[in-house]
Order: sequence, then C-alpha cells, then structure tokens
Amino acid sequence: MIASQTSSSALLSPPTIRNRFLDEFVNDTEFSHIGEVEAITTAKKVVVCGSIIPASNYSRWYYIACKVCATTLTMENKESHEGEIDGETSLNQFKGKYKCRSMKCNGAIVNAVARYRVPFDVQDSTGSILALTLWEGQALPIFKITAMDLFKRLVESGANPDEILPKEIHDIEGQIFAFKINIQQYNINKEGSSYNIYRLTKDKNIIDELQKKHELNLPQEPTSDSSNEDFVTHPDINMSDKDSVNIEDDDVTTLETNT
Ligand SMILES: [Zn+2]
Repeated sequence: MIASQTSSSALLSPPTIRNRFLDEFVNDTEFSHIGEVEAITTAKKVVVCGSIIPASNYSRWYYIACKVCATTLTMENKESHEGEIDGETSLNQFKGKYKCRSMKCNGAIVNAVARYRVPFDVQDSTGSILALTLWEGQALPIFKITAMDLFKRLVESGANPDEILPKEIHDIEGQIFAFKINIQQYNINKEGSSYNIYRLTKDKNIIDELQKKHELNLPQEPTSDSSNEDFVTHPDINMSDKDSVNIEDDDVTTLETNT
C-alpha cells in the first residue's frame, strides 16, 4: 500500500489528466482566500493557494506509524524490545513489535515505520496564515524520499532526526502551492487547528489560473528546482474522509477515528 504511493514518476500526469486536475482545482472546487477559511462552518473541501512559511508551533516532522494502517504508535504500545541497547532513541523506535489498537488492526502485533507529519503554515499576499499538515502520501512527490529512508539517512550521517529539520523540508519554504484542503468538523470546532491536505500541486498552469481568477498577487518564488512542478498528488489513502488516522500526540489536532 505504501509502496504504491512512492513512485513520483507515476504521479506525473498526462495532458488529459492534467486538464482534469486543472478543472478540479480552478473550476470545480470552491476557492477560499486563506484569511476566510476559518470562517467556514461546513465540513467540505476547498482550494487555497499560497506560499509556505515555517510553522509557528514547529514540532517533529515524522511520527511512529503502524506499518499496516498508519495509525500513531506510542512507546506504550510497544510489545517487544529486541535490538535495543540505549532505550528508545533514534532507530530503536522502529525495532521490535508494537500492538496497534486502531479499529483496523484491532490489537494486532505490527511493525513500526516513520511517516511524514510535517506541520507548516501557508500565507497569501494579504498576510493571512493557515496551518496545514503534510502527510506521507502528499509529501512523497515533493521530497522524493520516504520518511523512513530520510530518517535512516539522518541517523547514518550522525544527526538526530528529532533535533533537526531535514534539508528537504527546509527547501519548500517560500514555494507556492495550490492545496485542496479537507475542512473537517474538528477544524470547525477548534479554532487554529491544522487542516489536512487532500491534494496539492505545484503545476504552474493551475497556480497561474488561480492567481488570475482570484487576483492573488502571490510573491515571486525563490529560484528553486523546478523539476517537481508538474505533479498533482493523489489523495492519501489514510487521510480520506472515511478513514482518518487516529493521531494521539498532543502537539497536533486530534483527528476522529470514524466508524
Ligand atoms: Zn495498525
């Protein structure tokens, strides 16, 4: 399941599909200026467009996930401690087995994997800011490396993944994206909560059309690698309306596990 989402080349869309995404982002989905999102009182998907700035309440960029269902695992879920020497640091978090209490896994013993949960803010030309969360399926086409592989690379280079922001994530600062975000009931109930991204794109046609149609006047991007401009991400399987992942950390919004 995870592997099927990892190929960024598969996300490059042929022209007909790109037109469909252009319609989806520009014509078929309600647009909202960033400053107006928090006034929305109905659960629905809307498109916003803006540039990425560092999150004001920055927290860890990954979480420990069940390899089967992507639900958050904590040390309390840990069942076996094979391979551990120095307690629960670094790669040891991903050794041994965990008990997953999600509805899907129902207490099954599972392996753990690092997955992206990157908090950041997005800003438009009015200066309004919205907190978004980037999950694994949306992050892969941008970073071109899984969170687990990035985690291993940092550890191998002697860095502590809990203490640094990887270059891949640092590099998206200032970049402009169009986001189709999922406004859920908990966003409406909790002011200032972080919104989940349903799809995102850097496709220049889509962003240009949105800028024109809604007079966005977004700032120029810093010169950056333009090789990833054409992708439109697929909705993250684990972030669909029906199967929200149950996130248990206190530092981000708690998602409801739907029945
Ligand atoms: Zn699970």
